[in-house]
Amino acid sequence: MANTRTVTIINGDGIGPEVMAATVRVLEALKVPLEFEYKDAGTEVVAKFGTNLPHETVEAVLRNGVALKGPTGTVVGGGLPSANVGLRKRLDLYSSLRPVKSVPNVKTRYENVDLIVVRENTEDLYAGLEHIIVPGVVESLKIITEKASTRIARFAFDYAKKNGRKKVSAVHKANIMKLSDGLFLDCCRKVGREFPEITYEEVIVDNLCMQLVKDPTRFDVLVTENLYGDIVSDLCAGLVGGLGLVPGANIGERTAVFEAVHGTAPDIAGKGIANPTALMMSAVMMLDWLDMREAARRMEGAIQKVYGNGQVRTGDLGGGSTTREFTDAIIAAL
Ligand code: NAD
Repeated sequence: MANTRTVTIINGDGIGPEVMAATVRVLEALKVPLEFEYKDAGTEVVAKFGTNLPHETVEAVLRNGVALKGPTGTVVGGGLPSANVGLRKRLDLYSSLRPVKSVPNVKTRYENVDLIVVRENTEDLYAGLEHIIVPGVVESLKIITEKASTRIARFAFDYAKKNGRKKVSAVHKANIMKLSDGLFLDCCRKVGREFPEITYEEVIVDNLCMQLVKDPTRFDVLVTENLYGDIVSDLCAGLVGGLGLVPGANIGERTAVFEAVHGTAPDIAGKGIANPTALMMSAVMMLDWLDMREAARRMEGAIQKVYGNGQVRTGDLGGGSTTREFTDAIIAAL
């Protein structure tokens, strides 16, 4: 087929294969010009490859330029480094983009939440530079650079401009980390001056958390360093009904990996009851990124329609539908 794009599919661990199968069914039903190339990553493939991120998986994503990924498990303390962090570093996926939007008929404390979290993905405490100084004392290095801060600030303002957003809020703790977060803010201010049509503000991260739970509608685009972004974006997911609903993308100069923000959900894995909405919405972001906009709107519309009808929903949202029943409903609504 002309202009067919190949997407690397990484099922991942736990509920990954279940929500991925559901999402690929919907993409196939849309009849978009996509081909799927399945590659492995995660804890469940370590025995086979001796690593949770095989070289051929990274090579495939580089070659295809785009991947749809299920969650991969990480061992807390010890064990292999996270496959996610490895993928982001090796592909230089410097920007994490997470739209957080209210879903019809999903009752939460707020309606009309519509914000975007743009998180720097490559440095900060996530550089994983830790060492034992003497037994009982560990040093963990927070790295902030002008280059990465400017790049993420530019991504956030560019995104705001292209998507009709009005305000960018830089999230920081520069009152305490005057040098590192101070540098991040300097870069945001500098880039912000190139976008006079977009309002720029700065919010201290603890105050931001309080403001978000009081009234999330006062925010538009948030731009953050890596660690604050990790925490704030899960907080934001909670504002619209939880991890099963929120999509995400990790974007670099030429490559993008789309994935839900939730983890492997070991407590429900293999039961066929996981909510595939977050990965499906990540696939919608992928279709937009591939410029398949009509298909993206159809898929998004079908998801909204199913939630709007309120009949079919999975257990995490108080319903009794299985992953398959939910997916059938989405395909019927396309
Ligand atoms: P989790 O997101 O896996 O689960 C938290 C809770 O949310 C669980 O009760 C789970 O059942 C529920 N949940 C999550 N997704 C759901 C869905 N789609 N449908 C219904 N319910 C859902 O978080 P966790 O337990 O902290 O992490 C488990 C593993 O996942 C860890 O190894 C962690 O490192 C990994 N993880 C991976 C990613 C990723 O690959 N992007 C992200 C976060 C966590």
